[in-house]
Amino acid sequence: MRVELDVKVPIDSTFSEELRKLGIETTFEIVRKSLDARKKPYYLYRIVIDLPEDTAKKLIEEGKVRKHKEIEELLVPAVLTKKSVLIVGTGPAGLFSALILAEAGFDVTVIDRGKPIQERVKDVKLFWEKRKLDKNSNVQFGEGGAGTFSDGKLTTRVKDKKKHFVYKIFVECGAPSEILYENKPHVGTDKLQEVIPNLRRKLEELGVVFRFSTKLEKLKVRNRKVEEVYLRDLRTGIESIEKFDYIFLAIGNSARDTFEMLKKEDIVLKAKPFAVGLRVIHRQRTIDRMQYGRFFKHPNLPPADYSLTYKGRERNVFSFCMCPGGYVICASSEENSVVCNGMSNYKRDSGYANSAIVVQVFPKDFENDPFRAMEFQRALERAAFVMGGSNYAMPAQKVWDFIEGQSSNKLIEGGYIPEIKSARLDKLLPKPIVDHIREAFIYWSKRIPFFVPGNATFVGVETRTSSPLRIVRREDYSSISADNLFPIGEGAGYAGGITSSAIDGINGALSLIRRLNEGREPV
Ligand code: FAD
Repeated sequence: MRVELDVKVPIDSTFSEELRKLGIETTFEIVRKSLDARKKPYYLYRIVIDLPEDTAKKLIEEGKVRKHKEIEELLVPAVLTKKSVLIVGTGPAGLFSALILAEAGFDVTVIDRGKPIQERVKDVKLFWEKRKLDKNSNVQFGEGGAGTFSDGKLTTRVKDKKKHFVYKIFVECGAPSEILYENKPHVGTDKLQEVIPNLRRKLEELGVVFRFSTKLEKLKVRNRKVEEVYLRDLRTGIESIEKFDYIFLAIGNSARDTFEMLKKEDIVLKAKPFAVGLRVIHRQRTIDRMQYGRFFKHPNLPPADYSLTYKGRERNVFSFCMCPGGYVICASSEENSVVCNGMSNYKRDSGYANSAIVVQVFPKDFENDPFRAMEFQRALERAAFVMGGSNYAMPAQKVWDFIEGQSSNKLIEGGYIPEIKSARLDKLLPKPIVDHIREAFIYWSKRIPFFVPGNATFVGVETRTSSPLRIVRREDYSSISADNLFPIGEGAGYAGGITSSAIDGINGALSLIRRLNEGREPV
């Protein structure tokens, strides 16, 4: 019988030493590993071992082990009639829906306006070094989607067990195997850029056809059905009008021109809450000290992270997408705009920590108009571009100077790519947002020692935390405006983050398979 037990490993000991003390000599599988840093830090491993039935039952009765509940394998049912599907976007939602649909037997074509990874990496480097932005091949657009230049955190608050399937596929494609059991799985940009092309090759082996530098420009809906799609090859400029049985829209939250096109074609879109603000950079050792206390230099501890919230009068303020040992990057996808985000490599060894600090904004702030919300994001990004000196340097201000409303003459010395420039961020954001961030930092500085040291620096602006809108869909994941259109992932407004977008893609694909196999109408 497979049973599980927890093994506590103090940071001065080793896992094998603790196993030896417990007398465990059999083979085992690690199914969970977490770090408890509240007092004296220790790791908690959950391991699974195989025991003879009698011994297992006795140890269960004695409360020494628990019966292990296996995670169910995801079985993809075959589709009974072969249909063609176009998937728009090669982010996690697009790639994982492609995997399920291809395994089920669909004829799958995947397009992306951006380029394959190797070319995309060159374009992003060119942007950071020479400040030449390619509007279709950048940090947001191209093979792998927005998460390709990221921290590669795979944590999700979504309870769906399919996250284990997502991690397993990542590992099969070259991600570090510990993501299968770490409670905060992390891959890092350097490894993700190897995983994504391997995943593409796996899909190609299943018959999926990829077309990069190919943009969905228009779709024609007649009788509640997308009848034609207009695709433009961005290398040749040639447009083709094509037909597919089903369209999966996995366009991410930066495809503003595509959202505008959907509105023109009468696809129902609705405003949703999101959050905007800044990103704060600290020295990593400041955060390590804050979280690990006197153990902060211990070699067996990873660069620390944090998660903070502040309940404001009208809006909550929270940290988001915290990147230990990472960089704040300029992640623009529109010309003359600056938007920041965070990335790290697998080793998380930049010596700096960063996190978005964002304030909630609501549909009522924009009279429930998603396009006003989008214009608000765009206006902030353009103002940030100008404040940074109109060369894609990111405007920055020390946290205390932001609180006190004054310029900074010295900023943090690293932890960003490509450049930061001293500016009055307190004058860039709308007053209610500035006031809420100020209050939150004053509150945190009183309660969390070390969090607001002299050199903590804000970088702006953080506007793309999640989509400002929803492409409204039914329970079966199809758009309420077209029965064969499936909006999925972060751009659809129903997911946020790499893993939850991948799961949303899987669920959309499974829903279509069920609908076809059961001969059901859209629900
Ligand atoms: P996306 O990944 O955004 O992919 C959409 C794709 O669609 C893009 O490749 C785009 O080129 C393509 N596309 C758009 N419009 C068209 C069109 N008209 N025609 C053809 N193609 C089109 N999340 C985490 O969970 N952990 C992290 O550590 C993390 N770090 C991040 C760091 C950065 C710098 C960024 C930008 C994001 C980060 N995120 C992170 C968020 C995460 O990347 C997204 O939530 C996730 O990628 C969304 O997946 P998606 O498939 O829905 O869309």
